[in-house]
Amino acid sequence: MTSNRFNGLDIQNVKVNKSHTFDGHIIKFSVGGQNFVLMTGNSKSPFPMSIKHEFMAKEICNQCSKQIYPADISIQLCSFFQQRQHDLLRYILRFYQKEFQYSR
Ligand SMILES: [Zn+2]
Repeated sequence: MTSNRFNGLDIQNVKVNKSHTFDGHIIKFSVGGQNFVLMTGNSKSPFPMSIKHEFMAKEICNQCSKQIYPADISIQLCSFFQQRQHDLLRYILRFYQKEFQYSR
């Protein structure tokens, strides 16, 4: 399998940044034009903590089908990705290893 897809989804615009407030990473990505943020703990061996929506406008999430408001991301967990966060992090670590190495 060489397909660069996660659960049939095209994960795009992956950006990995180290957090300045905790030991971990903030990973931004988009699927079908909708933005999400995956927070991970432990920068040496990352584990997933949460996945939130980061929408610019009021929209229905194509993944969890919830109405999402363009508000503070801290309250808007995506249940679809939450259930798959371990698989998603494994996927990102596999295909975006360099971004983790050079993140700051
Ligand atoms: Zn969602």
